[in-house]
Amino acid sequence: MASQESSDVAAKLAALRQKFLVRANEDIQILRDYAEQTRRGELSAEGLIQCYQQLHRLAGSAGTFGLPELGVAARTLEKKLKSQAEDLAEGGAGRSQSVDVDTDFAEGVDALARLVEVRSEYQDPVSTPVQRSDVFEGSHGMQVSVIVMENGDDGLTALASEMARYGFNCRNVDRREPEAVHQVLADTSGAAAILCQDSDLADVMALRNRAQAKGLRRRLPVICIGRDGSFENKYHLAKLGAFAFFPEPLDIPELAERIESLAIERSAGVQGRVLIVEDDTELAEHYCLVLQSAGIEARTVSAPLDLMSTLSAFQPDIVLMDVQIGGYSGVTLARLIRFEPRWLSLPIIYLSSEDDPDNQLEALSKGADEFLMKPVSDDYLVRSVRIRCYRARQLSELMNRDSLTGLLKHSLIKQEVEKELARCRRDGHPSSVVMLDLDHFKQINDTWGHRYGDIVIRTLANLLRNRLRETDMIGRYGGEEFLVVLPHCPVSAAAELIQSIGESFAELAFSAGDTAFQVTLSAGIAAINDFTNGDDALEAADQALYQQKRNGRNGVTVYTLQ
Ligand code: GH3
Ligand code: MG
Ligand code: MG
Ligand code: MG
Repeated sequence: MASQESSDVAAKLAALRQKFLVRANEDIQILRDYAEQTRRGELSAEGLIQCYQQLHRLAGSAGTFGLPELGVAARTLEKKLKSQAEDLAEGGAGRSQSVDVDTDFAEGVDALARLVEVRSEYQDPVSTPVQRSDVFEGSHGMQVSVIVMENGDDGLTALASEMARYGFNCRNVDRREPEAVHQVLADTSGAAAILCQDSDLADVMALRNRAQAKGLRRRLPVICIGRDGSFENKYHLAKLGAFAFFPEPLDIPELAERIESLAIERSAGVQGRVLIVEDDTELAEHYCLVLQSAGIEARTVSAPLDLMSTLSAFQPDIVLMDVQIGGYSGVTLARLIRFEPRWLSLPIIYLSSEDDPDNQLEALSKGADEFLMKPVSDDYLVRSVRIRCYRARQLSELMNRDSLTGLLKHSLIKQEVEKELARCRRDGHPSSVVMLDLDHFKQINDTWGHRYGDIVIRTLANLLRNRLRETDMIGRYGGEEFLVVLPHCPVSAAAELIQSIGESFAELAFSAGDTAFQVTLSAGIAAINDFTNGDDALEAADQALYQQKRNGRNGVTVYTLQ
């Protein structure tokens, strides 16, 4: 299936390359005609501007289609014409007047023609399709796995069962058994990290590096635990390449949280949305295919007139903007995008062949954020887009998400109830809304302190994320109150699910110094589709929760219509 998919992509990329070659040959033929005119001293100002634009296009795309020498040669010629072409374009008048061009120009064009002829028999594609290697469904939807590398005589086995109670799927393996290690590392899908004892780190790093070759796929981070929390030991571990160190006795909620955020980060790759503004259709399509095959959603706009409507409809995380889109300037378009307040923080990245730092600076001052230099290799494109999407998402998450738990904030989760109600009306499916509240939480704070109270709240948030589906929505409704929307889930199934999560939660032992404590939760559930507006559904879930509190807490009550 995956290989079928990647061979489809490879075929499409090859077809695009073929199209590019045909077009490049046509472009060069046109350039040759102009070169002839320069030899006769007949090239017009209009012709020179045309040459300049053809060369610019060729310089920006040839590298991507596997002809880097052609790209470099076209760029050299483009630069020779640059100031003359810009002066003439600004001058406006007298476009049919003939102009003088350096004699090397015609020779340069002949050289371009030879470069295409030589490489027309294309065999060695520079553009290997990027594997969907980092595709990872992430937490909240798929169980997060942790690979635990044991060595037979430590407490890691106990740790693994403790982690399992937090909803993690631990895959234990003895690091001294190469065959078993190999097998576990051969399939790391869904895994967020490797855990090991600090004394084993060097061996574990070697095993990981052997199993996970460096490349597009990000290697699994290694987290180690140990008794020696000294600066020297930590420095030593950092030098070996450890990602984090947790001293024993372990703070398990903190460890769980670290792994949780790693899982979220590793899942970021699939969630990017990129809008490509580029008038070179083969190039745009090429970028789009490469990004899509890496799990990033991509769309292209080639007509600037469609830009604003596509932005609204597609809501990208970032924009990749060509510097010249037909007669329009990318710099000016970036400025125009910023006219609308909602796009003020949208990252705009130039796909530029502009290697003059002064011009880059000017573009930056006019509203672009960064440059990607053309030609961009497929690998580099995917990596830079992925990291920029991730950062953009992090920023907007900061605004929409509660800082303690990373869950949706009050107003956003309330909106989700309304949206789900609208979907229920449209499609007729049953959905549930759940109001969760920690029991006697004031007492927890009073007895153990606010810091431990916070750990309990975060732990419940993580447990919910681990146990619910990707399509479920979780929000922090208030201090120790959570709201969950379960689409396509009748109340009976919701009650069973929440009951089971509540039981898992009640089993967790929170350690505070030498003692441990446990916390329970109560929940109220209502069928969203039974109500005419979201607020009524919420009110019903709240009433059911109140009922459960009166009935002795630690459990689930379903609201029944009177
Ligand atoms: P009940 O079982 O009836 O829900 O009792 P309760 O003590 O949980 O309910 P109550 O509403 O009386 O108290 C909730 C407490 O939650 C009070 C508040 O200090 C605490 N709380 C709210 N937000 C936070 C938070 O972010 N961190 C911590 N540590 N405590 C919080
Ligand atoms: Mg262009
Ligand atoms: Mg409470
Ligand atoms: Mg409360």
